[in-house]
Amino acid sequence: TEKQTDFTEQPHELSSIKKVIGIVSGKGGVGKSLVTSLLAVTMQRRGHSSAILDADITGPSIPKAFGIKKKAMANELGLFPIKSATGIDIMSVNLLLENDTDPVVWRGPIIANTVKQFWTDVIWNNVDFMFIDMPPGTGDVPLTVFQSVKVDGIIIVTSPQELVSMIVAKAVKMAQMMNVPIVGIVENMSSFKCPDCDKEYKIFGDSNIENIAAEYNLDILAKLPIDPRLAAACDGGLIELFSGDWFDSVAEILEKDIAE
Ligand code: ADP
Repeated sequence: TEKQTDFTEQPHELSSIKKVIGIVSGKGGVGKSLVTSLLAVTMQRRGHSSAILDADITGPSIPKAFGIKKKAMANELGLFPIKSATGIDIMSVNLLLENDTDPVVWRGPIIANTVKQFWTDVIWNNVDFMFIDMPPGTGDVPLTVFQSVKVDGIIIVTSPQELVSMIVAKAVKMAQMMNVPIVGIVENMSSFKCPDCDKEYKIFGDSNIENIAAEYNLDILAKLPIDPRLAAACDGGLIELFSGDWFDSVAEILEKDIAE
């Protein structure tokens, strides 16, 4: 099989990016953007410089989660990402659209080309960890993105509402095709803790995630509960203020990777 590096595009000559992690999901609405944001915030808090490339072109939610209203600027050298309040570099189609409620109705090849340009034309200055909020699904668009960007690892986001075994199987197959290792699975919305009685509820039932992870020899990196404070932080543009240690163990895995 072809190696992923045989056809990937070179980043901008002024860019410096150490590690690139792609966040994938089976469909939209399972929390892929939230997980991407929390990973970037966690790594930034731990002293690394983080970046987010928002490749979810038709459903870009990263700028809103970070409360970014400014538009991205370009000059003859290239396109510049916007820095979040804590210094995370962000590029998203919403930072380019004049009116960010305009729907993006582009077809697959144009979407894939836009993401490619986010990689080749944006000046990503001194990035330790770049997190790519991938287009949802395991179809043509994410596949094309994986072909143009050199990704070092994939994190799969699932939720117990879905047919998790099928999604994981497809993501594993995509990763194998692209020759990219899977860092592991994050299960989102796995439970809800009642704020009054502290009792934990499995709202969507049992996901069977342990068995599925074992079947494919994957690690479960984190189980994120349904937490109204997370939704409020996303909606209010305050995701950088989240509190919780859900991603500390993932951070350790990613840090070990970069030290090697
Ligand atoms: P995706 O990127 O997969 O389409 P999002 O990350 O945009 O999904 O999440 C969809 C919505 O669900 C957002 O409004 C987000 O704030 C909310 N959400 C996701 N995960 C959680 C969670 N664990 N607790 C509370 N709200 C969540």
